[in-house]
Amino acid sequence: MSDGPRLPAAGRCWFCSSGLGSVRSLAFPFWSNTADAMRVVVVPRCEACARYHRRREIQSTTTIVLCAAVPLVVASALPLSGMVGTLVTAAALLGGFAAGIAIVVRRTRSHPSRHGRRLAIAALDHPEYLALSADTGGWRQQRGPATTKISRANLRRETVAHYRQVFSADATALAALEQGCRDAGVPPPS
Ligand SMILES: [Zn+2]
Repeated sequence: MSDGPRLPAAGRCWFCSSGLGSVRSLAFPFWSNTADAMRVVVVPRCEACARYHRRREIQSTTTIVLCAAVPLVVASALPLSGMVGTLVTAAALLGGFAAGIAIVVRRTRSHPSRHGRRLAIAALDHPEYLALSADTGGWRQQRGPATTKISRANLRRETVAHYRQVFSADATALAALEQGCRDAGVPPPS
């Protein structure tokens, strides 16, 4: 991200620095590799930023689907049959799909800061998230046996409210989530 990580005031949204963290704040659970403990990093997010991130997600999906569908429709309308027809149709689908992804990636990279909001992926620039995810010896981002391998769990961006459901039968995890909310100045989910 072009604007480096600057921590907003406690409880303020990480993405716009002005709204208040809501239950749609993002949560990243970490399990200790050295003790029977866990921590949840909570990145405060306001309702407006959550809506904005959701809208962009839908836009990206629509772009990719349209980019793949349009050449596919055109290719299947061409007077080709047999193997050639199949190959042209497959090439159109794959080419369109790749173009859609390229457009979404470029749009994300060139995302202007004039919107005054960071993208959802900027959660991974949060100092607390960076510190724990860099300490792969000490922490892992998944349940199960201790490991130092880099987890891809951070590609999922789930909310505090989501983890409240997931952890509902796990008192330790729930306590870690509530502690994370307190640390971040976000109202704990109920
Ligand atoms: Zn916000």
